[in-house]
Amino acid sequence: MSNAPTTNRRRISILGATGSIGCNTLDVMAHLGGREVFEVPAITGKGNIKRLVEQAKQTGAAFAVTADPDRYAELKSALAGTGIEAGAGPTALIEAGARDTDLLIAGIVGIAGLEPTLAAVAGGADIGLANKECLVSAGDLFTAAITRGGGKLLPVDSEHNAIFQVLEENQHHAVDRIILTASGGPFRDFTRARMAAVTPETAAAHPNYSMGLKISIDSASMFNKALEMIEARHLFGIRPDQIEVVIHPQSVIHSMVGYCDGSVLAQLGVPDMRHAIGYAISHPRRASLPVERLDFAKLARLDFFAPDEERFPALTLARIAMQRGGLQGAILNGAKEIALEAFIAGRIGFLVMADIVAAVMDRLDDGRVARSIDDVYATDRDARAVAASLLRKSA
Ligand code: NDP
Ligand code: MG
Repeated sequence: MSNAPTTNRRRISILGATGSIGCNTLDVMAHLGGREVFEVPAITGKGNIKRLVEQAKQTGAAFAVTADPDRYAELKSALAGTGIEAGAGPTALIEAGARDTDLLIAGIVGIAGLEPTLAAVAGGADIGLANKECLVSAGDLFTAAITRGGGKLLPVDSEHNAIFQVLEENQHHAVDRIILTASGGPFRDFTRARMAAVTPETAAAHPNYSMGLKISIDSASMFNKALEMIEARHLFGIRPDQIEVVIHPQSVIHSMVGYCDGSVLAQLGVPDMRHAIGYAISHPRRASLPVERLDFAKLARLDFFAPDEERFPALTLARIAMQRGGLQGAILNGAKEIALEAFIAGRIGFLVMADIVAAVMDRLDDGRVARSIDDVYATDRDARAVAASLLRKSA
């Protein structure tokens, strides 16, 4: 592609700029020099047009896109006279991904981010990947597309970013295990009976991180960790039995790599997504970031314990999905997205989410594999349809 920049500023596009990852990304960019240093070929949002417009003006973005086609007129009129091009709907979203850039931060939530991210991958951009559903659903097809595109895949999910930081060059053969840390979420110490009765509001209150609604609830159910196990498998090319999860309530150790000689390397920091985002933006260098420094004397202690998979069956489901292989990751994710929406809408209880996902995974356990990205979308649709029909029957 014609990846030649028009200025000597670094080009960074942001998918999902109006969300939690997007806002943190813009905060880091502002800290690292803002418009003097960075050019923004494209940014996207969906419902929060006001914020998208502010961000577009602030960064001098070339192209601002809302995923919602019904909001085009509103976005266009708010950007009138600024010289910033407006776009709306799925095609414009893909075009935003496809615009020439050096780095694309993939910060859309859910499988909706896959196509626009793949457009950037095909153009050879480096990808700062927060949108874990790309890897969970498309798996090896996504990593193969990265190899073809020629860009780097830089994990922004804090656990995977930590692993990326401590994986020693040329020592992949010596990796014994990857240990993903998990805060355990707000219901870490709840009984199953108490968990059955929790509301979306209490589930959304993450103890250590301030994140978008869906990932916060996924953290409470540990579906987020389930997605991260599958994400780790594809990112680091390891076997499912090499992936461990440990509850670490303080979220100071962001994850660890265990080597064949018994050494364990960890990356530590305060729980702040700007670490991982700043690392991806600055890679392969390190830049000074506006994050609090760890004060070990104040920390006093770090706790660890094994997760209880009876209360958090999402972890078992991730292992089953990895063992079955094929498109089970896409099925787990598609069913989970529908179950999560039903929980948010107050239609089902917290623990029912995992029951639905398990049932959909069993129903679609027919050995299907992905030959192309279209197979991923078709399976995602199947998983959603089966989940929706199970929900209707249980209503
Ligand atoms: P948010 O809900 O805060 O933001 C999501 C972004 O995507 C917003 O810009 C939103 O627009 C946009 N969006 C929502 N739905 C669609 C859609 N259907 N099509 C296109 N755009 C859409 O999510 P987060 O920032 O928390 O998470 C983003 C991704 O990063 C997720 O995959 C999450 O798992 C991952 N992640 C997030 C972390 C965090 O700290 N937040 C940590 C690690 C990973 P709008 O708001 O304008 O409607
Ligand atoms: Mg994470």
